[in-house]
Amino acid sequence: MILLLDYDGTLTPIVSDPAEAKIEPARKKFLTELAKRHTLAMITGRDIESLRGVFGDIPPTIYVITSHGASIYRNGRLLKRFATAKAPDLSSLKEKLSSVKGVIIEEKEGCFAVHYRKVGEKEEERVKEAFREFIEKHPPKKVIEGKKVLEAVYGGFDKGTAVKNFLEFIKWDGQEPVIYIGDDTTDRDALRAVKELGGTGVFVGERKPPEADILLKNVEEVYGFLRSL
Ligand SMILES: [Mg+2]
Repeated sequence: MILLLDYDGTLTPIVSDPAEAKIEPARKKFLTELAKRHTLAMITGRDIESLRGVFGDIPPTIYVITSHGASIYRNGRLLKRFATAKAPDLSSLKEKLSSVKGVIIEEKEGCFAVHYRKVGEKEEERVKEAFREFIEKHPPKKVIEGKKVLEAVYGGFDKGTAVKNFLEFIKWDGQEPVIYIGDDTTDRDALRAVKELGGTGVFVGERKPPEADILLKNVEEVYGFLRSL
């Protein structure tokens, strides 16, 4: 089986500081074991350093697809890079948001993200406005609005293309069952891709989007589901 798993909100609960979304040791051990029996890839909006920061050392059997599909890593090595365009210089945006407390600007491969989970409600609009202004001047290929995060993607990839590129990369035979699990708007592209390919899409949240086959309520249920495989 091929298991494609989002990280934040899927394998770990969403927390106010993304740098604190550490995986529980028992869950990491479980995933390490799972990856011995199945092809397992984590598909995340994070870059590799950011994921290592919360996951720790990544077992050599687990693939990591970073920045919504910009690159594929395994065993500490970059195996393939799909990013075609760089993100613009962010200094004007940083300058503009320097007075907003709690805002986090994350520069990644071919994209950048503005996290505002820790920003006061009154300041949220200011953050969004600054983001809008910036992308008007530097139009990205795609804008993704996630859970208290705005992302601008310049590389022309999303989690949908990430799924297709990965399956091609591992020379998927078209037969082995594919399961994708994710919790956010960005994952819906992936769920759509998996559905097109005849796989199973699992959404984590309150309501099942049309692209998904199965709904799980929370991270706890994700591990229950994975254990049942
Ligand atoms: Mg997520």
